[in-house]
Amino acid sequence: MALSEPLLVGPDRDGRTVAIVDGRVAGSAAQGSRTLSCTEGRIAPGAVCAHTHLYSGLAPYGMPAPSPAPENFLQILERVWWRLDRALDAETLRAAAMDYVARALLAGTTALIDHHESPNLIEGSLAILAEVCEQLGMRALLCYGATERNFGRIEAERGLAECRRVPASSLVRGLVGLHACFTVSDDTIRAAADLARELSTVLHVHVAEDSADVRDSRSRGAAGPLERLSNLGALVPGSILAHGVHLTRGQVEAAGLASCWLVHNPRSNEGNRVGYAGNLQFASKIALGTDGWNADMAEEEAALVRLAKDHGDNRAAGRLAGGHALIAERFRAVSEPLAPGALGDAVVWENEKVRHSIVGGRVAVEDGRLIGGNIDVISRAARDSALGLWERMAAI
Ligand SMILES: [Zn+2]
Repeated sequence: MALSEPLLVGPDRDGRTVAIVDGRVAGSAAQGSRTLSCTEGRIAPGAVCAHTHLYSGLAPYGMPAPSPAPENFLQILERVWWRLDRALDAETLRAAAMDYVARALLAGTTALIDHHESPNLIEGSLAILAEVCEQLGMRALLCYGATERNFGRIEAERGLAECRRVPASSLVRGLVGLHACFTVSDDTIRAAADLARELSTVLHVHVAEDSADVRDSRSRGAAGPLERLSNLGALVPGSILAHGVHLTRGQVEAAGLASCWLVHNPRSNEGNRVGYAGNLQFASKIALGTDGWNADMAEEEAALVRLAKDHGDNRAAGRLAGGHALIAERFRAVSEPLAPGALGDAVVWENEKVRHSIVGGRVAVEDGRLIGGNIDVISRAARDSALGLWERMAAI
């Protein structure tokens, strides 16, 4: 496992320094450390995006509006995302991930928790995402979201098998993914939970994003998706439950008692018109995600502040910081960011812009410039790939 050279960041304008040795924050700088000075800047923890979809990274490059226009959440999935994911090939997935990860690093996001699906490119898909993260220097938790919605049980088995193949490193770790309760059978849920326990990891699954997910679980005899997961022994402690828009206060508290994380995705929820996740204020472990929107967490947090105010939710603060504890849990690091033993993930802000992004002690953005690739080349490749993707989507 390649470790980065020892690094000393600072002193910043407040006189603060952060030493990073073997990828973790250290109490003092190691001899021979490289120094990254920032006397005009301010050192801060890197941001964590706790739920996203790298596969949708080409959407900002002119994705055509669906026709006819979707009228509900299921139609959005069927007419947009479940067509886009089937149209992905290795080249478009790589281009999407490169663009998304590059922009995330440039925005000061140093860790992403991804939920991937590409039904016609299951095997090897997570290796592509891992390679992109390694090349650009992004910390990531990766999984394939197993589902039965296209090809039945065999599809889910292949998705779970892909989760096994995440090439773990100092930057990348695997999770076990399920798309959502409403597209999988009990057997798949049980198999996913067994696999998570076998691999000493956790599940990452969409839960109660829309009322359709709740109705589906009820039709199968459970009180809701949380209870269905619980009944099947799938609330593996530490699991990541995305959305929870339609969970009751009691269900949110039950998820906390099971030591599960909830991830709020305010921009996505607003865009999909699924509702405001008001009961997440009762979550004990909660983080902020973007659900495929760009990983500029300052933008996501601004949306959270706006929507929380609109909905009279005065307990929405601190969700961005929650991501640090989530990512630290999975990498078995100290959860207090920038404390000795924490992940060596930091950002230097200067004039309200990201000057440096450091991930695991490796400088991924220096003086506002991406180190692992050229952003103009990456953007051009994304734009070119997107054209072919929209053509293939139209044919599906
Ligand atoms: Zn999602």
